[in-house]
Amino acid sequence: MTVLVLGGTAEARELAAELHARGIGVVSSLAGRVSAPRLPEGEVRIGGFGGPHGFAAWLADQRITAVVDATHPFAERISASAVTACRLAGKPLLRLERPGWEQGPGDDWHWVADLGEAARVAPALGRRIFLTSGRQGLAAFAHLAEPWFLVRCVDPPSPPLPPKAEVVLARGPYTIASELSLLCEHGIDVLVTKDSGGAHTSAKLTACRDLGIPVVLVRRPDRGGAASVATVPAALRWVLGIR
Ligand code: NAP
Repeated sequence: MTVLVLGGTAEARELAAELHARGIGVVSSLAGRVSAPRLPEGEVRIGGFGGPHGFAAWLADQRITAVVDATHPFAERISASAVTACRLAGKPLLRLERPGWEQGPGDDWHWVADLGEAARVAPALGRRIFLTSGRQGLAAFAHLAEPWFLVRCVDPPSPPLPPKAEVVLARGPYTIASELSLLCEHGIDVLVTKDSGGAHTSAKLTACRDLGIPVVLVRRPDRGGAASVATVPAALRWVLGIR
């Protein structure tokens, strides 16, 4: 059998490694957004499929047995495309999605529907904003002349950016100690992040709690259409069950 893992996440890499170690054929698919991605074990293909119909044709052509959509919780289009493509090609599809973050005692969290709402809410909470919502979403903040932004992303962002912005290029996982020192060094007084979930990038939330810094969290988009699991072992069991 050959399993297609739609990737771009740590969980996708872990699943590919587990499948590869068991001698199960695995092809990982990456969008090609990051210039030097961390490559999973097994075969890798990079780039879009040309929409759901192109995706369905590719699945048939490559004789893919099953698909695991392990893309990021905010990668909406590829997940919707996978649902349609698997229906058209008659392939089983599983969604692997890590749980979202949960607010605890001492957290000052402000939930918003999207980055547009985050751009309205964050300036009322602070004047030095730490933006970790990804370089593709920066346009939502570009019209804000006054707050100062620390923008963290993997690759250099393309315009438009807010006029007062400093960019720091980095890739997780991060530690609480390094997040604390980054927040203090730049005098950050509000954080904006998507509810990505998982441990790789959660240290910033602990650091904000420790420093009493408010956090603006973008809710995950609604999804539907595919059976879903939350962990790599559960996804592995699903694959082994259809072998
Ligand atoms: P998106 O908006 O859902 O996808 C846009 C288009 O990119 C899709 O229609 C598809 O093109 C192509 N694509 C996306 N993921 C792909 C994949 N794994 N393999 C092949 N083609 C893919 O996605 P996005 O939000 O730009 O995210 C792109 C990738 O980055 C995803 O793989 C995701 O796991 C990863 N990522 C995203 C975020 C985030 O916050 N959005 C954060 C971390 C990692 P076609 O229609 O041509 O097939």
